[in-house]
Amino acid sequence: MKMIIGGKWVDKEGKIEVRDPYTNEVIDTVPRGTADDVKQAITEAVEGFKILKKMPAYKRSEILWKAAEIIESRSEEFARIIALEGSKTIREARKEVYRCTVTLKISAEEAKRILGETITFDQAIGSENRRGYYYRVPIGVIGAITPFNDPLNLVAHKVGPAIAGGNAIVVKPATVTPLSALKLGEALLEAGLPPQALSVVTGYGSEIGDALVTDPRIRMISFTGGLEAARRILAKAGLKKIGMELGSNSPVIVLADCDLDKAVESCVSGAFWAAGQNCLGVQRIYVEEPIYDEFVKKFVERTKKYKVGPKLDEDCDMGPMITEEEAKRIEQWVEEAIKAGAKVECGHKRDGAVYWPTVLTNVPENVKVSCDEVFAPVVSIYPVKTLEEAIEKSNAVDYGLHAAIFTKDINKAFKAIEELDVGGVMINDSTDYRMDAMPFGGVKNSGLGREGIKFALLEMTEPKVVCFNLDS
Ligand code: NAP
Repeated sequence: MKMIIGGKWVDKEGKIEVRDPYTNEVIDTVPRGTADDVKQAITEAVEGFKILKKMPAYKRSEILWKAAEIIESRSEEFARIIALEGSKTIREARKEVYRCTVTLKISAEEAKRILGETITFDQAIGSENRRGYYYRVPIGVIGAITPFNDPLNLVAHKVGPAIAGGNAIVVKPATVTPLSALKLGEALLEAGLPPQALSVVTGYGSEIGDALVTDPRIRMISFTGGLEAARRILAKAGLKKIGMELGSNSPVIVLADCDLDKAVESCVSGAFWAAGQNCLGVQRIYVEEPIYDEFVKKFVERTKKYKVGPKLDEDCDMGPMITEEEAKRIEQWVEEAIKAGAKVECGHKRDGAVYWPTVLTNVPENVKVSCDEVFAPVVSIYPVKTLEEAIEKSNAVDYGLHAAIFTKDINKAFKAIEELDVGGVMINDSTDYRMDAMPFGGVKNSGLGREGIKFALLEMTEPKVVCFNLDS
């Protein structure tokens, strides 16, 4: 595919191959964009912003809704692209396509609900005759940088609210999965988005990232990805708004009173969705001692039934990791844990980019698979004596996106809600539950700010105050 600069399809001599990580076959190429391409995209976006900020809300809403309908009408084509260029199985990819249409439709609705309020000026002496209000205005050109693991919906989570709010946007998708973002751009242009308002520039973050991040015409960087890139971006961005949706090593607490089968089913799915490459993936499970053995037994039985293989097979449960290097990386992390005393209950087998779903017990808390983000199909299960111990261990990391608890005791659930140091607590669901309209984001190293359309819109607009000084 070509890339999109100011709504136009642009090719380059330099190409980047897009490979299916399962077969390693080249499925397409995209242009290897340069810093000059990024500059050109921003120049177009400055003009695009002038158009979009004057466009009535109903029109922005119609464009977003129409784009959702276009994607719905080609949903199988979108799902195949997600499944081919990334790690997801075709069934997982279909869910992402559905969620993308939801994200765009909610964005279309929220475009009509960008609210302000009147201000009580007369609360201060000397302001008795002032009357006024504030309303929200778009911030301008937004630079969006997105990861590989949800290559369509996570782009929609930036593009949808940006357009809803009247902003122009320049997207830099992950280099390994650029096709879904380009297809989303195509749908938005077809839906009638003013061309200059959208660019999708393909290219390596290490080569074109700085041009996007440091340009003063960009008013906000909306980034989703890993901590390392986040730190580099933060150090270079200068005076602009920053949204950071980063990773985690999410904990789940399983108490003795819970519905055990439901907890097992939910945690297995939460651990191995998208081959574990999920910012909300279940990584650490703390199980109360009375049910620990039974939980591990059932969890391992269920995991062993996972069908790992070609992603387009309808009965495939899990595909490969995004690259062979990533699979080798997690293999080494597990080796390190084994040397430190961890026991492999199942998995820990690799073939190319495929790494089998792996369950570990007896994992020391200072090894990487426990305290860093695995971002792989690896889960560690620990016994705990009390809820207090589980909460303490859950909090003893540098991340805090989602946490979860399985219990039927409302008091224990509330204790967990109040004491877990995270952006969201799921009760009787695993950490990977997300509905696209809820506020989403983390504390500590898991991020800055919130997404979830309405909340992203708050970040992508700013209040403008209006004050009348009336005659007394
Ligand atoms: P990544 O390596 O950090 O890359 C993310 C994006 O940043 C890619 O587009 C990448 O481009 C770009 N990038 C890299 N270096 C850059 C630089 N110096 N300047 C500008 N852009 C740069 O992350 P990933 O491996 O794609 O995704 C995995 C991470 O994302 C995990 O940590 C995961 O938890 C996190 N994540 C968080 C959420 C959330 O909502 N909280 C959701 C999904 C994923 P290239 O591809 O060209 O390197």
